[in-house]
Amino acid sequence: MKETVELLGLTKSELVSFVETLGEPAYRGRQIFGGLQHRRLRSFDEMSDLPKPLRSRLEEVGRASSLRVESRYISEDGTRRYLMKTQDNLPVETVFIPEEHRDTICFSSQSGCPLQCTFCLTAQLGLLRSLSAAEIVEQIIIALNDAYGVGVKPPRGTNLVAMGAGEPFLNLESLMKALRVMSDADGLYIVPNRVTVSTAGVVPKILELATVPDRPHLAISLAAPTDELREELMPINKRWPLAELLSACKTFEKTLKPGERFTFEYVMLAGVNDSDEHARQLANLLNRHGLTAKVNLIPHNPADPLPYQPSPPERVDEFKSILESKGIHVYVRRPRGRDIFAACGQLAARHSTLIETNSIGV
Ligand code: SAH
Repeated sequence: MKETVELLGLTKSELVSFVETLGEPAYRGRQIFGGLQHRRLRSFDEMSDLPKPLRSRLEEVGRASSLRVESRYISEDGTRRYLMKTQDNLPVETVFIPEEHRDTICFSSQSGCPLQCTFCLTAQLGLLRSLSAAEIVEQIIIALNDAYGVGVKPPRGTNLVAMGAGEPFLNLESLMKALRVMSDADGLYIVPNRVTVSTAGVVPKILELATVPDRPHLAISLAAPTDELREELMPINKRWPLAELLSACKTFEKTLKPGERFTFEYVMLAGVNDSDEHARQLANLLNRHGLTAKVNLIPHNPADPLPYQPSPPERVDEFKSILESKGIHVYVRRPRGRDIFAACGQLAARHSTLIETNSIGV
């Protein structure tokens, strides 16, 4: 059987070559690209500007969409979580976070995750598989269509964060391909400068990204200031310990261009990694490596059966002041969508009790 081509994962020029193999002129490729990526249509049937025989042919050889929305949850704060299924029935989750001046879409790079971070619910799924470029792009299309209507131009800018399920750096090729497709001005037109990729610390890929000219912003998940504690919370630390990770970060920092953001994320777990001593150790660690990156503190988002609680606000403030007194820039991330299991580290294909809609029209 011939393989079905996922057209959402093709750049405009690849789509042109693809239609040429079907004996069609180049402009048809551009038309289909616009239909998928600009008008955000999810079936060939809706592309009424294409001749019927071509639509049928496309149906045979390709796919305009592959994800199926199973449920949608809407938080009190307006955040939306989509639980979708792939063609092979694996869960994919995406979160749409409306903000005053922009929207942020948090997408997944894998179904499940192979890393065993003890504070993250996704870890409990294990790795199901990495997502294709098309499956990454489609998550954005589904979220935008649901928020604003099919093909409607978003009223605010759209930022993307690769902070959903999965470790993006274990699926870097598909991720970069998806970003290339989405940056096209004739399509979604979301450029790498609006995208942040977060990694648990896959050192060789940090070094690889350091050589890429047109790249997204980078965030590194630290969670602990010593190898001993980090190994316990993030087993990936055994493979790439802090000294190696931070030296890769320094190499990366040296390649930063004006306007590029480079941040560290630090999930705050009450009584585990949030003492004054931890704050001093963290500041010293970053300063010792000569890193000037900003630190984002993320109060833990609790979820059964994770054995942690978020640090209380006073503790977060004190931790922040200690870092600041040592010259570190700190930002505290406000949790969004906790009530619907949409916040950082809460994506595990959970059904929640809040507003749930089956088969929504996106
Ligand atoms: N695998 C990547 C991206 C996904 S996690 C990574 O590790 O960076 C995105 C962010 O959420 C990471 O900084 C992670 O440390 C944080 N996180 C995970 N579980 C969390 C939880 N339960 N509460 C708060 N933040 C969490």
